[in-house]
Amino acid sequence: MIEFKRTPKIVQWFYKQAIWKSPDDSVWLTFDDGPDPLYTRKYLDLLNSLNYKAIFFIVGSKADDENLINDIINSGHDIGWHGQEHIHFAKLSRDELLEQFRMKEKFEDKYNIQIKYFRFPYGSFRSYMIRIADAFEMDTVFWTYMVHDYKNKSSEKLLSDLRKVRASDVLLYHDSSKNSKEAYIALETFLKTSTLRFRRIKGK
Ligand SMILES: [Zn+2]
Repeated sequence: MIEFKRTPKIVQWFYKQAIWKSPDDSVWLTFDDGPDPLYTRKYLDLLNSLNYKAIFFIVGSKADDENLINDIINSGHDIGWHGQEHIHFAKLSRDELLEQFRMKEKFEDKYNIQIKYFRFPYGSFRSYMIRIADAFEMDTVFWTYMVHDYKNKSSEKLLSDLRKVRASDVLLYHDSSKNSKEAYIALETFLKTSTLRFRRIKGK
C-alpha cells in the first residue's frame, strides 16, 4: 500500500513500467471510487465547465447508472478501471484476479469503449499484476500526489494541500467518499484559481 502524499522518485523508478506522472507539464486529474450519484455528477459538471479532462477510475460493481457513465464518456473524459470490486488485489487468487479484469471487458462491450487505464484499489498490488493489466490492454496509472481527501479533513486544509500540486503531477482524488462535501469545495476552489495547466478535453 502506498500512503505518501508525494510519491518518492525511487518508488516511481522501481515500477517504471507504470504511469506515474503526466508526459508533459499538464496536470492530470484522476478520480477514484466512483461513480457516485451526487459527486461524480458534480465533478463532471465542474470539469466540463472548465474543459478540464479527467480519468474516472470507476468500480464496476457501483456503475449502475448508465446515463452517468454515458455522460462521462460523451463529455470526452476517460473511464479507467478500478476493479469490479474495491478489494486488495495483492490478496487475490489467480482466478479471482483474472475475473476482476474480465469484468472490465464486459463493461467495455456494454458501453462500446476501450478502457486504457487501470488503477489498483488501495494501491494494493504485486509487480507481476502490472503485466496482467498490460495483457488486458491497460496501462497502470499510479499518481505523484494525493491529499488524503477521503479522510475527515476540512476544505481549508485540503485546499492548502492542493496548492502544492506541481506541473506534471498526476493528482489522485476521490469522487466518492465520506468526506466528499469538503473535498468538492476544496477542488472546485483550487481548479478555479490555479494557474497550472490541466489536461484538457480535446477540441475544446
Ligand atoms: Zn480506490
